[in-house]
Amino acid sequence: MNDKRTAAAGGDAGSPRHVSAARDADAASAAVVFGDAWRYAPAPEARDHVKIAPRYDLFIGGAWRAPASGRYLDSISPSTEEKLCEFAEASEQDVDLAVQAARTAYEKRWSRLRPLDRGKYIYRIARAIQEKARELAIVESLDGGKPIKESRDVDLPLAAAHFFYHAGWADKLEHAFPGRRPRPLGVAGQVIPWNFPLLMAAWKLAPALAAGNTCVLKPAETTPLTALLLAKIIEEADLPPGVVNVVTGAGATGAAVVGHPGVDKIAFTGSTEVGKRIQRALAGTGKRLTLELGGKAANIVFEDAPLDQAVEGIIRGIFFNQGHVCCAGSRLLVEESVHDALLHKLRERMATLRVGDPLDKNTDVGAINSRAQLEKIQDLVASGEREGAARFTPRCALPERGYWFAPTLFTGVAQSHRIAREEIFGPVLSVLTFRTPEEAIEKANNTMYGLSAGVWTAKGSKSFWVAQRLRAGVVWANTFNKFDPSAPFGGYKESGFGREGGRQGLLAYLEVD
Ligand code: NAP
Ligand code: MG
Repeated sequence: MNDKRTAAAGGDAGSPRHVSAARDADAASAAVVFGDAWRYAPAPEARDHVKIAPRYDLFIGGAWRAPASGRYLDSISPSTEEKLCEFAEASEQDVDLAVQAARTAYEKRWSRLRPLDRGKYIYRIARAIQEKARELAIVESLDGGKPIKESRDVDLPLAAAHFFYHAGWADKLEHAFPGRRPRPLGVAGQVIPWNFPLLMAAWKLAPALAAGNTCVLKPAETTPLTALLLAKIIEEADLPPGVVNVVTGAGATGAAVVGHPGVDKIAFTGSTEVGKRIQRALAGTGKRLTLELGGKAANIVFEDAPLDQAVEGIIRGIFFNQGHVCCAGSRLLVEESVHDALLHKLRERMATLRVGDPLDKNTDVGAINSRAQLEKIQDLVASGEREGAARFTPRCALPERGYWFAPTLFTGVAQSHRIAREEIFGPVLSVLTFRTPEEAIEKANNTMYGLSAGVWTAKGSKSFWVAQRLRAGVVWANTFNKFDPSAPFGGYKESGFGREGGRQGLLAYLEVD
C-alpha cells in the first residue's frame, strides 16, 4: 500500500526526474500521500487558437514603432524554456517619444474629453478583456509560468473588474471627493513586475485613465506579452492615440521612464531595492510617487481556528502562483498547542499539490518565473538548511526542462534566520510558533515589511483585536489573498506607500484641494 502511494506521488509516467524527497524527521509522514484513485489525467488547455506574433514593437502614440536602437529581447516560457517571441527594447529615445505622445494626448484629447466619454472608453477595454479572457489567460501562463487555473480564475476576472470598477468612477470623481475639485495630474509613468503582469497593468492603467491622466507603461522583461496584447485591445478600443503607451524592455527602460522630466507621477510595483532607488532618484523633483514593494506576511493561526480551513488558506497563500505574490503568507505563526496537529495536516495537503505544466487545468504550482528567481529561491532555501531549520519537501516529480521548485516547508525557524526575514518570493513557507496573542503580534510585526497578514480564529473579536495591532496594509481574517477593486491595497514600512484600489487608489492620480 505504502509503495503504491509513494509511487503515485513521486513517479508520474513520463516525468523523468524526481526532486528532493522529504529531508527532515517528518520524512515518514511525507510518504502518506494519495492512492491511484486520486491521480489526475493530463488536462492541458489548448493553445492552438492563441496567436503570438514572432516580434512585437513598441506601442507609442497609437502606432507600433520599431525601437530606435533596433534591439529586441526574447520572451521565453519558463516552463519549457521555449522562445515565445521577440519584443522591443526601448531606450531613452523611445521613452522620450512615448512621454511626448502621452503629453500631447493629455493636453489635446484626454483631459478635454467629457468624463462620461472617458468612462465609455474604459468600459470598452473591460469588455474586450472579458471577450479575450481565454487567450489572455493562456498567454499569461505561457509567458510567466503561472497555472492556468490562476490566470483564468484570478488574474483575468480581476483585471476586467478593475477596468469596470474605474470606468464607473470616471464621471463621479466629484462625488468621490466632494468639494475638493479633483483634477488629473498629467502623464503617469508606470513600472510593473512579472508576477501579475496583466493584473498589475490593470491596477495601474484603470485608475490613471479614470482620473483623466495619460500613461506610459513599462512591463517586466520576463513577462511583456499580456501588456502588449492589452495595448492591442486599447488600439482596437479606439482610444485617442498616445493616451496609453507601452514601452517594453529591461531595467534601464524602467529607469528611463522614472527619470524622464516630462512625467508627473510615477507608480511603481516591484522590489524594495529598486523602489528605494526610485525614491532617491525622484527626491526633490516634485513628481508624485507611489511604491508597492515587497512583503513578508505573517499568517497567524490561533488554537481555536478551524484548522482544515486554515490549511487551505495557508496553502493558497504561499504555494499557489509559486509564492510569486508580494503579499504571500510566507511566515506561518502557529499557536504552540496546535502546532503538531496543524503541521500534520499541512504536510499531508502539501503532498497532494500538483506541480507542473502551467497549461494543465489541474496544476496547482507552476513554473518559477525565471532562472534568476529560481537561483534566489535555492540560495535562500540553502541558507535555511545551513542555519538549522528543518526542511520538508514532499516527493514530487518535476519536468526536465524549465524552472521548477517543489513546495517546501521549514519548521524550527528562528526569527534571526534569513528565511524568516527576507522575501523569498517562491513556494517556501517558514513556520514559527507563539504562546500568547501578544507574542504573535510582536513576531508578526518583527519585519521591515508591512504589506499584508492573516489571522485565523473562531472569535471575531480576536481577529479585530489582532488586526488593529498588526502593522500591515491588508489583514485577512479566516481567508487569504482575496482582492477586490474597491478595496485599497498597499503597504507600511519598507513595503511602500500609497494605495491602489478604491477611492484611496484614485487619489494617487488626482490633485485635490
Ligand atoms: P524589480 O526587479 O524591482 O522589477 C520591477 C519592475 O521594475 C520591472 O519592470 C523591472 O524591469 C523594473 N526595473 C528594474 N530596475 C529598475 C530601475 N532601476 N528603475 C526603474 N525600473 C526598474 O522587481 P521584480 O523582481 O520584477 O518583482 C518582484 C518584486 O515585486 C517582489 O519584491 C515583490 O514583492 C514585489 N511586488 C510587490 C507588489 C505590491 O503590490 N506590493 C506586487 C507585485 C510584486 P525588468 O523586469 O525588465 O528588469
Ligand atoms: Mg516570459
